[in-house]
Amino acid sequence: MAGSASLVVALLLATLVAGSVPVRAGGDPGPAVEVRNPALRAAVARISRGSAAWRQAMAEVAATGRRAVLLTADDVMILPDGAARPEPFDPSELAAVTPIADARGHVSAVVVVVNVAGLEAVHDRRGSLPAEFHDDLDRVLAHEVFGHAVPYLLAGHLSGRCADPEAGERAAAACAIQRENVVRAELGLGRRTDRALNSLALARAIR
Ligand SMILES: [Zn+2]
Repeated sequence: MAGSASLVVALLLATLVAGSVPVRAGGDPGPAVEVRNPALRAAVARISRGSAAWRQAMAEVAATGRRAVLLTADDVMILPDGAARPEPFDPSELAAVTPIADARGHVSAVVVVVNVAGLEAVHDRRGSLPAEFHDDLDRVLAHEVFGHAVPYLLAGHLSGRCADPEAGERAAAACAIQRENVVRAELGLGRRTDRALNSLALARAIR
């Protein structure tokens, strides 16, 4: 669920690189976030409405000129280390974060890929209410965007990495989960204390 450094995201949507994103009913995500998928866009709008910490972070990122690019798993192909050709996004993965950096480690953007269709499918099978799906999507973005992407973007360098728990480390002590929990608290989405996904509604359906 995170900063898979070994992954290279091949952006197939060239249009994303150039585009200014038009303001739509889902709410303007602001210049710090580029997002077109309607479900992701709506999630960003919900989080932005409910979390002052998110709004503050996005204003700070916008001031740097750097940005997070939010894509779905269907938007990308992945080139694993040593692989000859790109492969589809691993359907068992929920999300991946890839900083785009130059040779000196300067980060200009961070690509956040979320497996929206996979998350939706699990919730469909479980018979979730729409709000349960939305809450899980918001939890995922709180972790991936606020937890992992924003620290890279504010630092403007790979040294800004905010890590997941190391083996043996208490999950709630890890940088990315502490940050995730700040946004969760403001949104009333519970507190994450585990390494895995047990605090997502869908976890109850997977086990
Ligand atoms: Zn993570």
